[in-house]
Amino acid sequence: MDVNTSSPSDLDLWVEELIGDFAGQRYRVLETIHVSETKFQKLSLVETAGHGKVLFLDGLVMCSERDEFVYHDMIAHVPMFVHPNPKNVLVIGGGDGGTAREVLRHKGVERVVMVEIDGEVVEVCREHFKQTSCSFDDPRLELRIEDGVKYMAETQERFDVILVDSTDPIGPATPLFGEAFYNNVNRVLNDDGLVVAQGETPFYEADAQRLILQNLSKSFGQLYMYNYANLCYPGGFWSFVMATKGLCPMGDFDPARVEASGLAFTYYNADTHRAAFALPQFQKNKIGDLLTPFKK
Ligand code: SAM
Repeated sequence: MDVNTSSPSDLDLWVEELIGDFAGQRYRVLETIHVSETKFQKLSLVETAGHGKVLFLDGLVMCSERDEFVYHDMIAHVPMFVHPNPKNVLVIGGGDGGTAREVLRHKGVERVVMVEIDGEVVEVCREHFKQTSCSFDDPRLELRIEDGVKYMAETQERFDVILVDSTDPIGPATPLFGEAFYNNVNRVLNDDGLVVAQGETPFYEADAQRLILQNLSKSFGQLYMYNYANLCYPGGFWSFVMATKGLCPMGDFDPARVEASGLAFTYYNADTHRAAFALPQFQKNKIGDLLTPFKK
């Protein structure tokens, strides 16, 4: 989608994320910090009047200072509190660093491998988006600049939790939503492992959500979807998909662990964990037949 930088007056500059050809979300720009064409995508970082710094890739909002806590809380802490004792975590994508930041807050984590295809995203965020890139120097983190598809096919390592924090299924991210990739995810996960992936939005991408679950169902017997609301993703109501080798995000979730962790969150808590899995009926009508009933 193009980034439309037209402005209604000489004084204001706006950047717009177009939603198809029928809608858009605009942000008033105070300063353009970085714009470049990387090997993989157009990378833009702007300072905005209402959302702090906003990172765009190919004209799509990746994260904003104002609301990144929502996405990064929910992609990381829901699976980290479902797994009984996550020590080894793999992040695919996540170039801004927010997902790795949240995972590394868990004291029991011994190793995080983060596989990001575009080193320029990491460099620009390290320099200008400190809020999300603050954990890149954590000694437990191994950052690999390579294709996550290739890594997943070749690694001999095993992980407790895998988080696929990728862009939408276009360009280099396309295979990250496919059957072959998830076959490899299943191989790389330990026996009680689970994977969470960026799951698009039930409003604008209901068909894509169904396809993602259908692809996952070829490799995993337990499938779940959970939702969150944020400011900057089109429609403001998005999902994650979760696939496990047996764990249930509700039946195997012990809310007391959240309290006992001593961690403070901004969006996540035991209530938002459970509420996130309560899907609206229109979404259930579309994908409910592919989801696994919760353990009692
Ligand atoms: N939270 C954002 C969202 O939901 O769209 C994603 C944030 S993060 C910036 C997405 C990252 O996925 C980008 O840095 C992009 O370079 C990376 N990516 C895309 N395809 C990839 C691949 N095949 N392997 C590894 N990283 C990939």
